[in-house]
Amino acid sequence: MAIILDGKLIRDQILTELGPRVAALTAQGCQPQLAVILIGNNPASEVYVRNKIAACEKVGILSQKLTPPASVSTEELLAIIDGLNKDPNVHGILVQLPLPPQVDASLVLDSVVPEKDVDGFHPINSGKLLAGAPGLRPCTPSGVMEMLRRYEIPIAGRKAVIVGRSDIVGKPMAILLLAANATVTICHSRTSNLAEECRRADILVAAIGRAEMLGEDYIQPGAVVIDVGMNRVDGKLTGDVDPEAMARLSSAYTPVPGGVGPLTIAMLMSNTVQAAEGRLG
Ligand code: NDP
Repeated sequence: MAIILDGKLIRDQILTELGPRVAALTAQGCQPQLAVILIGNNPASEVYVRNKIAACEKVGILSQKLTPPASVSTEELLAIIDGLNKDPNVHGILVQLPLPPQVDASLVLDSVVPEKDVDGFHPINSGKLLAGAPGLRPCTPSGVMEMLRRYEIPIAGRKAVIVGRSDIVGKPMAILLLAANATVTICHSRTSNLAEECRRADILVAAIGRAEMLGEDYIQPGAVVIDVGMNRVDGKLTGDVDPEAMARLSSAYTPVPGGVGPLTIAMLMSNTVQAAEGRLG
């Protein structure tokens, strides 16, 4: 019988553990604060931002929401971020994606100072991740690592296969698993014999964005399966792995919803607290 890796349980643990750290910072006059920039009226982005602000309130992190219009220019956004970079009371800055087409996304994201880059996307933080130096890590893959750690799933010496090589999920996931001494394979849309590669995995991470693409042929019996995918099919949230095959074949798996999703916001809170602690030295 496969263990269901419960993202909500781990999220609640992480948020509860942040409480005393937030209280200690607040007592020293440094209450953590997250600034969220939400551009335009994308309904999905509005929901994500609402959830992030609700999580802030739960752990005692201050938040501010800036809502420039969809017509905002790159220069206007850079000016907003410059103000937040210089504000000593703001510890984390999050630019909610996607950005409108007229905005130079990489220029804008890279303008957030690395110390406040709570999404962990800045090239300085990517470099620190690669080098194994302390820094702010991307939230989704670091949430997966927390999940594996707290469920005491061994990583060292095991074969990890990641399907997906995006900068925000697949690549950092691979680096984190490598740092934990897994033997790592990264697969993508040009991988030959994808099923064969996946069947080698003791730990299989799906970060593709294609509903239930990985079926029973892709899962080694007894593997741990982490399904990062969040796909809307007929209004229903589905992962990248066939849930029936995953439950039947794996030794442990993350359900969708309720698996990896809740951890992303928990790690954003954790990064904001880490950034505030870093500021205090
Ligand atoms: P991207 O679209 O940036 O990357 C998808 C990756 O999947 C690419 O590397 C792509 O390969 C690969 N891929 C696409 N099709 C195939 C295929 N047929 N066979 C093998 N590989 C394929 O997506 P993200 O990394 O941003 O997100 C992945 C999924 O995770 C999405 O469902 C997203 O919604 C979800 N997500 C969930 C989060 C959470 O909190 N749970 C947070 C972030 C994302 P190539 O590089 O060759 O194009």
